[in-house]
Amino acid sequence: MNGELASSGSAQLWERALKAMPGGVSHDGRFLPPHPTYFARAKGARKWDVEGREYIDYAVGSGAMMLGHSHPDVVKAVQAQMELGTFFATVHPLEIEWAELVQELIPSAERVRFTASGTESTLLAIRTARAYTGKPKLLRFEGHFHGWHDGVLLGMKAPFDEWPSLGIPDELRSTAAVAPQDANRVEEMLKADPAIGTIICEVSGANWGSVPISDDFLRDLRKLADRYGCVLIFDEVITGFRWSPGGKQKLLGITPDMTTMAKIVAGGMPGGAVGGKAEIMRLLDPNVEYKRYKPAVAHKGTYNASPIVSAAAVAALKVIRTGEPQRQADSVAKQLRAGMQQMIDELGVDALVYGESSTFTVYFAKGARRGSLASISPAAIRGSLNRDSLDIYTNGLRRRGVDNMSFTGGMTSLAHRDEDVPPTLEAFEGAVQDLLDA
Ligand code: PMP
Repeated sequence: MNGELASSGSAQLWERALKAMPGGVSHDGRFLPPHPTYFARAKGARKWDVEGREYIDYAVGSGAMMLGHSHPDVVKAVQAQMELGTFFATVHPLEIEWAELVQELIPSAERVRFTASGTESTLLAIRTARAYTGKPKLLRFEGHFHGWHDGVLLGMKAPFDEWPSLGIPDELRSTAAVAPQDANRVEEMLKADPAIGTIICEVSGANWGSVPISDDFLRDLRKLADRYGCVLIFDEVITGFRWSPGGKQKLLGITPDMTTMAKIVAGGMPGGAVGGKAEIMRLLDPNVEYKRYKPAVAHKGTYNASPIVSAAAVAALKVIRTGEPQRQADSVAKQLRAGMQQMIDELGVDALVYGESSTFTVYFAKGARRGSLASISPAAIRGSLNRDSLDIYTNGLRRRGVDNMSFTGGMTSLAHRDEDVPPTLEAFEGAVQDLLDA
């Protein structure tokens, strides 16, 4: 396998990239030995690499391309905006339309502030929540991902009490507490530590749902946040507009105090948003605060709500609100989950296939096939496939024309079709066979 990959154009590009960029990549997760695959273009549910090989795409822009690649409405809107100017660094009418669409769709978004990424959204939401409660400490959950700023790194990956990165002052340890997805434990921690004023949660469960989370746990969090005077932030960077047009909060009828968004909210372009209760979001209003000679919560960002991103976002959200993208994507993901589990059972491999909405994850572990979702903890999922096995699996899929998202799962989009299921299952069978042969 390596020989075949090593002779490719991607290998040569990587050689060049290694001399220009550390590790040859712009994101830690894009590093894939023996070398990553270089993609040249994408359309609908397909991507093509630099040598013209076609892939069914289940990475869907890390979840951003809910409408598939280059949806005609989004392309048209972006092209029209190109003619009018891509970027003014001023206010402009399209951003209002964008904010109104978010307000209409996301129950907690009484007011909206735009950012340039999901990382910026969680940074801003946590800062605003801290300003509102006056309490310095954040409670977050083991393995949940909220971007890569200093404030959300502790607890991002096992071992959860260690920084997953160099370069972060140890003093920041006092600004965050890391909890398991266990309501009793959360209550104990809130009781014991009055400095905790903000709770943030990836509502899919850790790592876009590869660690399942129960609806009851999310309901408990709402109650606990109220009981202990905390601002509850739902991180819907992945689930927003995917689990339903109104995100997971609309689906479950649980309204957080604040919501962080990115990816689909920006039509797959670089952008993000924070929505929240008017009373909290008021702290971001420079007018109110300046009149009191008090600084508002500081928020800048040259590229926030840029016209070119706003144009894509408005076009995309108009399709999102019909509910059709979610129906189509969910239906294909459901078929994939069933087909993969059947294959796993036929092969007699110890693995469990699961996922909510338009996602699927394969959990490889001893006893998993007959096990329950409750046994899948953040630490267990990290250990389920070691790095080498994960690379064999991912490369095994790519070699057979399928690109998945991260770890052992993927997502679907409006552009995925029933006809994509059989070739995907065939590639899956081959990749699992590669694992067995390794
Ligand atoms: N929160 C969640 C739940 C995410 O999945 C991500 C990115 N995958 C982020 C925040 C960070 O978003 P970004 O990569 O746009 O900074």
